[in-house]
Amino acid sequence: MLYAQKGWTSTIYEATSDIGGRCETQRSYWKNGLIAEMHGEFISSEHSSVLGLASLFNLSLDDTRAYPSGTVDTYWVNGARYTQAQLDADWQSWAWSLFQSAIKQAPWPQSYNSYNATGYAYLTFDNSVQGGKGTAMFLSVSKDHGATWSNSLKFATFQNPVCLYPPYCFNISGGQFRAPGSYPAPAFDPTTGRLYVAYTDIVNGKAQILLTYASVSDITTWSAPAIVAPAAGDRINVELSVEPGSGRLDLMTNDRSYTGNTLFDVAYITSSDGGSTWSTTRVTKTSWDPSAYGVPCGSCASGVRPFIGDYDGIISLPGSAAMTWTGPGKTFGVYPTNLEVFFGSVTP
Ligand SMILES: Cc1cc2nc3c(=O)[nH]c(=O)nc-3n(C[C@H](O)[C@H](O)[C@H](O)COP(=O)(O)OP(=O)(O)OC[C@H]3O[C@@H](n4cnc5c(N)ncnc54)[C@H](O)[C@@H]3O)c2cc1C
Repeated sequence: MLYAQKGWTSTIYEATSDIGGRCETQRSYWKNGLIAEMHGEFISSEHSSVLGLASLFNLSLDDTRAYPSGTVDTYWVNGARYTQAQLDADWQSWAWSLFQSAIKQAPWPQSYNSYNATGYAYLTFDNSVQGGKGTAMFLSVSKDHGATWSNSLKFATFQNPVCLYPPYCFNISGGQFRAPGSYPAPAFDPTTGRLYVAYTDIVNGKAQILLTYASVSDITTWSAPAIVAPAAGDRINVELSVEPGSGRLDLMTNDRSYTGNTLFDVAYITSSDGGSTWSTTRVTKTSWDPSAYGVPCGSCASGVRPFIGDYDGIISLPGSAAMTWTGPGKTFGVYPTNLEVFFGSVTP
């Protein structure tokens, strides 16, 4: 019709017997001659081309926002009422940036053989090579929500992995305790498509945090591991997360930098530029010696097995990072088995 108005002739090739494509008018489904429009019936107020066509063809429009007075949109989410005001606030504070970063990552047009990696699962783990020395870190990818996993890929090796498992090993200074030792902590950054991995390794006699990354579009090419904010004391048990809207990197660690390498604190280390620069915040107000606290142990000479590191974890939120850790507490148990799970939140 538009072509005819311009004086052009055209031939329409249509694969189905209906015209209209995804737009369809139901003429015989409802009683009493009522008709219904399917697909494409809602036109947003800023869709000026379609609004222009409606006016060109003299079609009248129904205003679906013309609610009876006193009514408002409302939703029921996670078992509670969710108002339009909450929706607007969530959209402004985090949802918009999340959508923007997802759009930035997505190739255009998306098709069966061109899509972004959202939905892939990455598993990182350490394992020994040739019986232990030269222990290395490996990666496996699942592209089908965990049903199948790729062959493991070696992406980095430790120089001297932290091993805190007395009486078999304890290779930092001070009183002995059990702790996880070196392990790779992964996090995906949707703003850059990078998979980051943080781990601890002993460099120049001190346990330090190292960071390496690869683009998930080429998971075999990894950056040279770099020490995160070199520290004066041992840092062990590192955990990593990425704030998905901004790509901010957040780490937590048990850190002996505040006490001349004698006692541990929890420290928060963050970077807003993909790991080029870091800022560190001490999270705990009191330091402690993990060799002095533990769990009851019948087979231990002291009756107690000292440890640190259970329940360590971090999550990145738009305006803060929240973390958990185990440390000696005041409210439950008696010394030296008074360990508790702590929770803290830090503003980057
Ligand atoms: C459930 C649903 C709800 C929707 N709601 C809205 C809405 O409220 N508001 C809105 O703006 N949009 C909505 N849309 C989207 C909107 O309907 C489509 O974007 C629009 O109709 C697309 O028009 P088109 O002409 O580009 O493509 P289509 O309408 O898909 O037309 C393509 C045509 O090409 C034909 N064809 C394909 N291959 C060949 C071939 N090889 N040879 C010959 N013919 C071929 C097909 O049969 C079809 O008729 C909705 C869509 C769906 C499915």
